[in-house]
Amino acid sequence: MRTKNSCEPLLLGAVFSNRKAISIQLKKEDGDSIKLSKQKGVSALEKKALINIDYTFDFVGDEGALTCGQPGQEIEGEIVRLTEAFINNGDYVVFAIDVHDEGDQFHPETKLYPPHNIRGTKGRELYGRLKDVYEEHQDKAHVQYLDKTRYSAFAGTDLEIKLRERGITEVHLVGVCTDICVLHTAVDAYNRGFKIVVYKDAVASFNQNGHFWALGHFESAMGAMVK
Ligand SMILES: [Zn+2]
Repeated sequence: MRTKNSCEPLLLGAVFSNRKAISIQLKKEDGDSIKLSKQKGVSALEKKALINIDYTFDFVGDEGALTCGQPGQEIEGEIVRLTEAFINNGDYVVFAIDVHDEGDQFHPETKLYPPHNIRGTKGRELYGRLKDVYEEHQDKAHVQYLDKTRYSAFAGTDLEIKLRERGITEVHLVGVCTDICVLHTAVDAYNRGFKIVVYKDAVASFNQNGHFWALGHFESAMGAMVK
């Protein structure tokens, strides 16, 4: 016996393009049907979150310990624009920021990179105007600061729980580095079944070959939308 609310629609069918639903037809039990469509590239049916990755002084500033330098600085305007747009739209916005303890002998990055994003240092502060945007909106319930200790924002954090609680199915990625922390976050999002959008003008790396390789990989191996 059906116990569903009579207003709850039944899924009749869906039209897919490039593995993304572009048209969904729903039928309510009272016989009416609803058709929801979206333009290609517009996520009318997905609940989305912006994951803002590692845009800190150490990764972007001229004197940063592990800086992307100019490519990182050139995306400041686009990161700020997107972050403000998501916050003002009421979407969930996560600042997923690397944190390390200096000389941590158990951390694999200690052998790979100079010390960076050390807890409590200027190097770990958000870079440029993104810092102002965060400080202006940090008290809002849908703005979240998240410490992460590995490349991926999902590794050892409660990010997946936060996204699932909110019914979010699509993650939008910005920040640095395209081929390290953005890439590893995208891989984990892919493995967890999230749809992925990457903004090519809001990600950067200190390795240009790696940057462009990763942009291609997001599309070809993860079905991500790179725009
Ligand atoms: Zn790190």
